[in-house]
Amino acid sequence: MTQTTASLESLFRLDGEVALVTGAGAGIGRAIALMLAQAGASIVAADRDAETAAQTVSLIEAAGGQGLAVVADVSLAADCNKMIDETIARFGRLDVLVNNAGIYPPFPRLPEVDWDLFDRTLDINVKAVLRCTIEAARRMSSGGRIVNMSSMESIRPSGPSASHYNITKGAVNAMTRAAAVDLASLGIRVNAVLPGFIMTEGTSAIPEAALEQFANRAPSNRVGKPEDIAAATLFLASKASDYVNGHCLLVDGGTTIVGG
Ligand code: NAP
Repeated sequence: MTQTTASLESLFRLDGEVALVTGAGAGIGRAIALMLAQAGASIVAADRDAETAAQTVSLIEAAGGQGLAVVADVSLAADCNKMIDETIARFGRLDVLVNNAGIYPPFPRLPEVDWDLFDRTLDINVKAVLRCTIEAARRMSSGGRIVNMSSMESIRPSGPSASHYNITKGAVNAMTRAAAVDLASLGIRVNAVLPGFIMTEGTSAIPEAALEQFANRAPSNRVGKPEDIAAATLFLASKASDYVNGHCLLVDGGTTIVGG
């Protein structure tokens, strides 16, 4: 019995491995960095904000883990390469990439279009994910894992004025499946998490009434926590999901299935 418990736990352990998390200075990215560190991985916390990335690493170290803060804007090719170079220079390997950084500024409602904002959103939410995936795949050994942060909005819009964002997250789902197929020859698995509404720094401005609506829409009857997404990411980054590949995993308390 004890042995079964030990081997079950080991399915989720990442001891001796190195995980790079983008947008790790806040919200979902920080929660992922902390949980993967708790599972035993050394963490590279990349964010465009030096201070928040360093705070994430301080939290990891305070809990007995190992981390490296890297300042990187993932929409810049040079930063993306630098982030991976620094990972290899410090830890000698890269096992897990979590493409978490993403933006969701206020978007206009179609037929209004803000092309500049759309281009910027594409750069961060789509092109950066592809670029980091390519660069990481070139440096990972067989057995590497990539987890992309998509959104439930890619499956079913929960309201107007999100088309610019939803299009980018739909592209992340397609990219996840395409990369899973292409990178299989390198022994790299690629999956995505599709969060529902999650309370983070990025969503903190949302009014109380809207929050209640989100909670009521979910059969789970609450909004999500960053840790809900971190746990799903740990699953996809671990041996527990060894036969899961090219999958887009909804973590939305059931909101999407009831059409919320
Ligand atoms: P958040 O609280 O805004 O945190 C995102 C972090 O990423 C911030 O530290 C941000 O820095 C950083 N970042 C943004 N653009 C970056 C760039 N170009 N390069 C490097 N770092 C960058 O966001 P979140 O709510 O945790 O969301 C994280 C991911 O989950 C996103 O991909 C988002 O689309 C997805 N998601 C979130 C929800 C939700 O309800 N929260 C739902 C579905 C999907 P700054 O503070 O400087 O911007």
